[in-house]
Amino acid sequence: MANNWNIPAWIEKEVRGRGKVCVYCGVEFTPAKISKKTAASWEHIINDAKIITRENIALCCCGCNASKGQKQLSVWLVIGVGP
Ligand SMILES: [Zn+2]
Repeated sequence: MANNWNIPAWIEKEVRGRGKVCVYCGVEFTPAKISKKTAASWEHIINDAKIITRENIALCCCGCNASKGQKQLSVWLVIGVGP
């Protein structure tokens, strides 16, 4: 998993440290080789790559990332992952 977002090393380290599961659906991350869908990807909670704070950067699975796309989080949470 590459860090292409100019995320400072200390934030990357912290987020990786707490991020063993997807922040949205809670799935445990797997290597991309095993499943692309559950591989970890960088997520900006507020969809603005300029906001690089420990609150706004998290890890989510590629499935959620793809599903969320460019939607606003509040919109996606309502229409996105159901129970
Ligand atoms: Zn997920």
